[in-house]
Amino acid sequence: MKRAAPIVLSAPSGTGKTTLAHRLIEESDDCVFSVSITTRTPRNSEQHGLDYLFLDEHSFDKMIESGELAEWACVHGDRYGTPKKALNDSADLGHHVVLDIDVQGALQIRDAIPDAKLIFVLPPSVDVLLERLKIRGTEESDILGLRLRSALEELEVARDFDYIIINEHLSDCVQEIQDIIAGKETVGLNSEAIESIEVCRSGIANVLKRDY
Ligand code: 5GP
Repeated sequence: MKRAAPIVLSAPSGTGKTTLAHRLIEESDDCVFSVSITTRTPRNSEQHGLDYLFLDEHSFDKMIESGELAEWACVHGDRYGTPKKALNDSADLGHHVVLDIDVQGALQIRDAIPDAKLIFVLPPSVDVLLERLKIRGTEESDILGLRLRSALEELEVARDFDYIIINEHLSDCVQEIQDIIAGKETVGLNSEAIESIEVCRSGIANVLKRDY
């Protein structure tokens, strides 16, 4: 059986990437979710083994040392990583493994697995991004500023991705990713996509200059 290429989704926080990843998996028989390990504490209804494998720092270190991770990174002060075994086992079975990971991890996956498809997800507008971050309720002004500054850094790297998609309508995004998987979507990073990155970047930079 042909090994299936992993699908890597990265996006600034508040773009709806995790919802998108789960919807893609629900609607695609050939996609499975990559459950990451993390040192952060579980939130609300998150379940060990389903959303993440929640590990302590020592266990995380041991997985790095034994070479069990395909990639790992520190994001907003916590560590996250993708276990190699699940990634390889699913790929061997012909399943596209969907990775919801940050940009540092995405670039490590590209180095390790050159046929991985790297997709960067943009919000439809900076106003929508701000709204989504505020609705989460956890975003106090200084945390919001931190998230926006991280978004700027992530957008710097977006040009290195294979595809840019805009999360305006969830179902359209799912369809776009299914087309990428099926090889129907062949247009990579065109000038329109680069323009969208720049519009988002300058919008966030402007928000950071005023009150938010
Ligand atoms: P959260 O804590 O909000 O679930 O995730 C924070 C960030 O870590 C998100 O950008 C998420 O995509 C990223 N992340 C989740 N799992 C992994 C992983 O295994 N590796 C890397 N590099 N980033 C991850």
